[in-house]
Parts: sequence; structure tokens; C-alpha cells
Amino acid sequence: MQIKRNILLNPGPATTTDTVKMAQVVPDICPREKEFASMMKQMREDLVRIVHGNLNKYTSVLFCGSGTVVMDVCINSLLPEGKRILIINNGTYSMRAVEICEYYNLPSINFECPIDELPDLDKVEQILKGNRDITLVYTTHNETGTGILNPVREIGSLAHKYGAVFIVDTISTYAMRPIDIEKDNIDFCMASAQKGLMAMTGLSFVIGNIELIRKSAAYPKRSYYCNLFMQYHFFETTGQMHFTPPVQTIYAARQALDEYFREGEEAKWNRHLEVFEAIHAGLDKLGFKDIIKRDIQAGLGVTVKYPDDENWSFEKIHDYCYERGFTIYPGKTSAQNTFRLCALGAITKDDIEDFFVVLYEALKVNNIKIPIHYDA
Ligand SMILES: *Cc1c(COP(=O)(O)O)cnc(C)c1O
Repeated sequence: MQIKRNILLNPGPATTTDTVKMAQVVPDICPREKEFASMMKQMREDLVRIVHGNLNKYTSVLFCGSGTVVMDVCINSLLPEGKRILIINNGTYSMRAVEICEYYNLPSINFECPIDELPDLDKVEQILKGNRDITLVYTTHNETGTGILNPVREIGSLAHKYGAVFIVDTISTYAMRPIDIEKDNIDFCMASAQKGLMAMTGLSFVIGNIELIRKSAAYPKRSYYCNLFMQYHFFETTGQMHFTPPVQTIYAARQALDEYFREGEEAKWNRHLEVFEAIHAGLDKLGFKDIIKRDIQAGLGVTVKYPDDENWSFEKIHDYCYERGFTIYPGKTSAQNTFRLCALGAITKDDIEDFFVVLYEALKVNNIKIPIHYDA
């Protein structure tokens, strides 16, 4: 079968290999069969291996849904009665965590920081020192809306110093940027099959500390479908997901994991870095500007300022590129008009070079000045 190859430069879902796409085509199977349970058991262990977790200390739990489902799960399941969660908020994905707290009426502190700067760790420490009822600290590893990389190891160390559990949204870094769950002081992190793993949408994971999951059995149950202990306990006692799993998506994720280990953590990360550098080189050549200082970018996505050019239309540029197999993505910051180019997926720097040929044509056809013009 010939499947058209599209290059997705959006922040997930990612471009996948044909072998991952085709892995979904399997004989029908009831997911309650032993064969399926044993595949998930292996998968749960492999997901912990990706972040170098000790299998006696860490486990992973699968959920049906996009990445937001595991943000919801971690936040609603891990807060003891009468305690507070501190959210270090420097972007739209952390803001989503704040909203989750609001929906569940969870006592929280929203520590708002500028979106283009690293959080002030002294202030984080002051908050922890002054509010001893904080038992959870939450941060986003790579704020995908801007591409800023947050210092999780340092924040985690502060959380632990004050006896709090540290939750990190690693959805846009997991299986891309190397993570060491223990050394990075992470108690819980998250992933979604369609991002770093380069698999299909609809399957997400919590990777975290077994003892803390067991402890959470005594915490308030705030959701029926999205409770971490419930799903963990069901896996441990039956080998299955509590409710119907996304069967074919899991087969694709299995294939993606095999391909991940075959490519290797370091080689894969180097490939993404090459893609990332090719994106920067192409943008620089055209005169585009990004909004985050290079040295604090995570290496996964570049957020680019719209030109100050009367002919600029993101829609038109998008459509021109899309028709030629390249997908670019609007930004997600409230203050500035931006678009994004991401280094996710089964792509190489050659794909990026091909993309910039098309982008150059798109700018020409739309009479946009090159080099790109900015008023300030
Ligand atoms: C993609 C992503 C999510 C999940 O978003 P969905 O729309 O649910 O897939 C959460 N956090 C971060 C940092 C992400 O990049």
C-alpha cells in the first residue's frame, strides 16, 4: 500500500513511519485475551525504561485519550484532602493545569511567570517555605506554546526539600529529549503516544512512583474514569485496562516502541536536534525572528513572530505549504501573533530543507518581503 507522506511541523500528532501506521492493521482481537494483556505488560515496562526508571520503584499506567487526559489524571488523583498544589505557570500548557484545578475546585497556587523567561527559583522556594500545606508541585517541561525549557531538576529538588511530590508534564519531551526520572527529581511524568513516540493519537501514559500511587488510594476520588490508583490497581490485579482500550492504537504504539529502541535514545535526540537546527537555519536565512532566547529553547519547537508585512497571511502561507505536503501550525501565546515549526516525528533535516524551498515560494507568491521585515 502506498501512503502519501506528509511532513507535520505541528506540535503533535507527529509524522509517523509507514510501519507504525500499518501496525494497526491486525486480526480482530478481544483485548481481554491473555495475548493482549502480555503485550500491555511489556509496554508498561518499556515506557518506564524510556525515562531510565527502576522497575521496582516506578511504573506506568495507560489511559485512553489525548495528552490532556493524563494531566487531568495526575492532578485530580494525587492531591490529598486539605492540601494544596503549586503550579509553576509560564505558558498555556501550565495554564491548562490551573484550569483543571479550577474545574475540580482544588486548592491551588498559580505562580504566574513571564512566558519568555525561566521561573524565578528563589520565588518558588519562598512560596514553598511560606505555604507548608503544598504537597504537590507541578510544572511543564517544555512549554510547547513557546518552546521554553523549564529547569525541572532544580524545581524538583526544591519540591523534595519541602516534602512535596513533583509532577512534570513531559508530554512534548518524553521519548525525544533524554529524561532520567530519578536524577531529574521527577515523581510523576506524562506522555502521549502521538508525540515523541511517533505513534497514533488516543493513548496516553502516566509514569510514576509506585509507592506514591499506592498512597493515593486513600485520597479523595474526584473522577470515575480518570483515577490513577483505580487504573493502576486494575492493571496490577488483572493485567488489563479497566475499560475498553484503544486496541489498534496500542498495536501501533508497540511498533513505535520497537522502533524507538532500535533508533536509540541518543541517535533519536541527535536527529531531532539536527531537524531543530535546520529549522533555525532556514528561518535565519529568511530573516524570521523567534520569541524565546535560543539558549533556553527546549530544542523541539520554534515559535516564530509574524512579520510586519501587509501581505502576511498565516492562512495563505499555511494553505500553500499544506497543499505541498507540509503542515505548519499557529502559535499559542496571548500576547503576540506567532506560528510554530516543530522538530517532532519521523522526519530528517532533508525534509526541513525541502520545506524551506516551499516556504520561500509561498512567501514569493504572496508578495511578502524577503528578508522578512519587522518594524521593531
Ligand atoms: C500536546 C501537549 C499536551 C496535550 O495536549 P492534547 O491536545 O491533549 O494532545 C499537554 N502538554 C503539553 C506540554 C503538550 O505539548
